[in-house]
Amino acid sequence: MTGVHAPAATTRMVRVAAHVHSEWSDDASWPLSRIAATFGRLGYSVILMSEHSRGFSSAKWGEYIDACKMASNGRVTLVPGIEYGDSDDVVHIPVWGRVPFFGEAPHIGALLADVTQGGGTAVWAHPWRRDAWRRFDPDWSQYLSGVEVWNRKYDGIAPNPNSFEISRRGGTPAFVALDFHTRRQLFPLSLTLRLDSVSERQARADPRTVDEAGAGVDQVYSALSTGSFSPRAFGLPLERLTAGPLAGALRGLERTRRIVAHIVHLPGNPRPEPSRQEDYECKRADQSTPGRAVAARLLAVMPRGARRRYGCRSKKADTMNAAMIASTAIAAMVRFGYPDCATGPLGGAMG
Ligand SMILES: [Zn+2]
Ligand SMILES: [Zn+2]
Repeated sequence: MTGVHAPAATTRMVRVAAHVHSEWSDDASWPLSRIAATFGRLGYSVILMSEHSRGFSSAKWGEYIDACKMASNGRVTLVPGIEYGDSDDVVHIPVWGRVPFFGEAPHIGALLADVTQGGGTAVWAHPWRRDAWRRFDPDWSQYLSGVEVWNRKYDGIAPNPNSFEISRRGGTPAFVALDFHTRRQLFPLSLTLRLDSVSERQARADPRTVDEAGAGVDQVYSALSTGSFSPRAFGLPLERLTAGPLAGALRGLERTRRIVAHIVHLPGNPRPEPSRQEDYECKRADQSTPGRAVAARLLAVMPRGARRRYGCRSKKADTMNAAMIASTAIAAMVRFGYPDCATGPLGGAMG
């Protein structure tokens, strides 16, 4: 005890949605105001925005920072960020912090060093999209604050074991991200961020430190840069879902989801838009997995009454049975997490 009355600093936990695209990205359409309203309703108080670097400029970055501030409200703070892509759009690095705009397609090694030097935070997004992991330079590890081990858009409804391995080997913290473009990526993934709140007196002295929402953009930037975050899914710490029975169940559901998504997108059914077709290429390996085997496995764990209701006997399970069972399970899961965004019989989970 010093006897000096230092302003009391308190610590507060906030629920964060990471890696969100708005109409400021060239492949997404939600206005910032709609993002603030929807994510606020889902219980997030901080949104880590990450717009694609292509199409941005230094001037636009300045306007965007203002737009995020305008769209923030008493419940939700939109934190500006850019997802940088390299020249042929393979490696993606979301960046947050009071840093300048680094160009539409910067050299990744130089970007990481510059971000770190500027006190910003860089995360490696979806290392398995387009085999980005093959370009990994061990020198990056010292600059990365996180690696996405679960990207809803590319990894689906289960974490990616290969990305986990990258996180573990490089000693880079695990990060979870929605990669939100459309409502299909609304999913109960979050980061719990520990904010060292400033006292009210400090806030009055320097209003820039605290936005109206109470979660100042600079507080968020500083918590990210010190690694004060922990990933969660379905409200549970991520570790609970990466080993044991829950991990196995999620992996099984994700495998089945991919098969169902393939059926949903068969010729004659609506095709994915061009920007999503690469997702389906990634799924080629899964498509070769016989739906029959997945169905048999699901049926084996179902009570007999339920099996009869689905009109199938375990020996004669086929792909459509798997589709029905899995879509029910997935819809229930999504509904459980987000009651107001489960649309249609598949609960919006097929994206
Ligand atoms: Zn990306
Ligand atoms: Zn993205």
